[in-house]
Amino acid sequence: MKIHATKTILLVCGLVLLTSAVARAELKVVATLSDLGWIAEQVGGDDVDVTTLCPGHQDPHYLPAKPSLTRKLKKADMLVYNGLELEVGWLPLLIKSARNRNVKAGSRGELDCSQAAEHILDVPTGQVDRSKGDIHPHGNPHYLLDPRIGVSVARLMAERMAELDPDAADRYLARAEEFAARVEARLPVWQDKVRAVADCPLIVYHQHWEYLLHWLGLENIGSIEHRPGINPSPQHVEDITRLGRRQDCVYVIAASWDNRKIANRAAERMSAPLAILPGAVGAVDEAVGYIEMFDFICDRLVAAAVAGDRLEEGQSQ
Ligand SMILES: [Zn+2]
Repeated sequence: MKIHATKTILLVCGLVLLTSAVARAELKVVATLSDLGWIAEQVGGDDVDVTTLCPGHQDPHYLPAKPSLTRKLKKADMLVYNGLELEVGWLPLLIKSARNRNVKAGSRGELDCSQAAEHILDVPTGQVDRSKGDIHPHGNPHYLLDPRIGVSVARLMAERMAELDPDAADRYLARAEEFAARVEARLPVWQDKVRAVADCPLIVYHQHWEYLLHWLGLENIGSIEHRPGINPSPQHVEDITRLGRRQDCVYVIAASWDNRKIANRAAERMSAPLAILPGAVGAVDEAVGYIEMFDFICDRLVAAAVAGDRLEEGQSQ
């Protein structure tokens, strides 16, 4: 009797495990960037298994195309990527070596998230060649630093996930709207916080922040990196520091992966504070998620502008 009962329990447990395994046939999503991975997790919830290729602390322009990344891509049902050639140095190689028809160009499993950005900034005019910098040939690809575009990306992902996994379609669409509501509730908080320092211009290291600055109404008066992806000449650094010294209020912003030595030296020479900002989710410990990243960025921008105000400090020239 006891043996029979034990067998029955084992059989029921086995069936439960089998049923849950079938029910949890998650959509395997590979995201190139940590921001996209984080958004995919919000939209996909328990229905997806998300893997991110480029960690948040790594410059996404330059990721070594390692075999371990190819292996991740081999198993993917869906690939979400930034596009606008941000990942051009490594993603095409990974796609080619993964030989996964789910994510090859033109398949329903590959999603270029730049489709969600209505307006691409800094689109070059005239002939594009390497003399204008070796990255950003199709315009500025860093649109994820405008949280409103992040919301559009979430909705785009939800639609595609719903198409690939129709049984969970309603859940994807509902989660995207939940995410949108969370971000949209924070938008006025971020904007109000930064508005107080909007009259203090800033200098960027790389043109990584254009969407952020455009959204927040902040003025960028120059880049330390004269052309995207190319180290600045001493003459350009001299010109930009001279420009910085002439301002009543100024500060410098750079991503954690930018050339800290050059950024530091330029900021010191213009007696301006340097704010290191997270260029992606996970780039600094505080940027644990997409929303927390903007909380941190806005706090840092305000602190840097206050520290960079020479009039208030009695340093007017
Ligand atoms: Zn860039």
